[in-house]
Amino acid sequence: MALPPLDDLVACPQCDTLHNAATLPPGSRAYCQRCGVVLMTSQPAAMARILSLALTAFVLMLAAISFPFLSLDAGGLHNATSVIDAIMAFNEGLAIPLVVAVAFFIIVIPLMRLGALIYALGPLVREQPPRAGARIAFGLAERLRPWSMAEIFIVGVTVALIKVAGMAAVTIGPAFWAFAGVVIITVLKDQMICRYSIWEALDQSAA
Ligand SMILES: [Zn+2]
Repeated sequence: MALPPLDDLVACPQCDTLHNAATLPPGSRAYCQRCGVVLMTSQPAAMARILSLALTAFVLMLAAISFPFLSLDAGGLHNATSVIDAIMAFNEGLAIPLVVAVAFFIIVIPLMRLGALIYALGPLVREQPPRAGARIAFGLAERLRPWSMAEIFIVGVTVALIKVAGMAAVTIGPAFWAFAGVVIITVLKDQMICRYSIWEALDQSAA
C-alpha cells in the first residue's frame, strides 16, 4: 500500500497512531481511532479564542511578576515577596545556575511561548498573511511546551505555604492569583489548540 504524502498524515499526540488528515466540516471534531483523543477541530472561531487566551495569560504573567506574591507576618516582622525576590533569594555562589534555571522555567519560557503564539496567530485571526517567521515562532512555542513549568512552581509554593502557615501569618498576594490564572488559562489554551489546522493555515498563507 502506498503511503499518502507526509503532509496529509496527522499523528495522535497521545498514542502516535497515524491518521489521514481530511478537511473537516466547520464545527466538527476528529478523534483518534485508537485512544479517542481529539485530533483535529474545525472551529474557525477557535483561533481567535486561543489568541485571546494567550493575550490574557501574557498580561496575567506580567502581573504575576510585578505584584507581591506573598507576605509573611511573624513576631512583629512583615515581609512581602515578589516572584523575582523569591528567585533572587538563591543568588549566592553555587546556587546561581539554579537562579537562572528557575527564572527560565517559570518566567522566561512561559513568556516566550505566549509571545511566540501571539506573534504567529495574530495575523491569522485577522485573516491576514502570516508574519515573517510565524512558522518558526509557532514551532518554538510547541517545542518549549515541556519546559514551561509555571504550574510546578504553583504546586511547590502551595506545599511550602502549608508548612509555613503554622509559623507565620501568611497573606497571599495578587501575584499568586495571577500565576494560578496563568496556569489554568495555559491548560485551556493548550487543550483548544488544533495544531494541524494552525500549521495548515500557516502553510496555506505562505504558499
Ligand atoms: Zn491516540
